[in-house]
Amino acid sequence: MTAQRIGVMGGTFDPIHLGHLRAASAVADSLDLDRVIFVPAREPWHRGEQPGASADDRFEMTRLAVVIDPRFAVSRVDLERPGPTFTIDTLADLQGANPLDLASSGDEWFFITGADALAGFMTWRDPLGILELAHLVGVTRPGHALQAIELPTGSCTLVEAPGLDISSTQVRERVREGADIADLVPGPVADYIAERGLYSKGAS
Ligand code: ATP
Ligand code: MG
Repeated sequence: MTAQRIGVMGGTFDPIHLGHLRAASAVADSLDLDRVIFVPAREPWHRGEQPGASADDRFEMTRLAVVIDPRFAVSRVDLERPGPTFTIDTLADLQGANPLDLASSGDEWFFITGADALAGFMTWRDPLGILELAHLVGVTRPGHALQAIELPTGSCTLVEAPGLDISSTQVRERVREGADIADLVPGPVADYIAERGLYSKGAS
């Protein structure tokens, strides 16, 4: 297999929404990526609150969403590793035994973060180790300033692109209120949420 340029986007994806997908495709266009792998976290280490949907439901919604772009894929590596999810482990696992069989030596790796997540990057576990495994990419997230952080020269790229002001929190709130989410998530994800009764009042 020829070497590829592979983007990775980690997150809780509770649920995945059009803002994530728009940001990933903007970065893929801008940096000429062959792939973007979405990796739902098992237990996000930085969140006090547990996700509203189970890991399997978050994975399934992500799987339903990624079909919209042939460059997109989804991985279970973070769901299969016990304990909180750290990006350093995500990248190491993806670059080791890759269950998607998408990687080969010589691939170039890019870890994609929205502007809000980028701002906290130095508080993540082993940030400099992460930079040895992947080039960091910060992408526009409306409502958050996209600003360079102090990192070794050449280790981070900012991609400014028209973004969508959507958050998973907003999706969960809308569902709880019984409001429509068709403008926030892909159709199959909206259908899945409705069928499974996720995020509604009384859902666990
Ligand atoms: P929540 O409201 O539950 O925190 P979220 O919408 O922030 O959810 P996450 O799963 O926390 O989604 O984010 C995963 C990654 O996607 C992070 O890097 C985050 O910055 C990025 N991201 C989320 N929403 C957007 C958006 N609308 N535009 C660009 N990047 C986004
Ligand atoms: Mg978030």
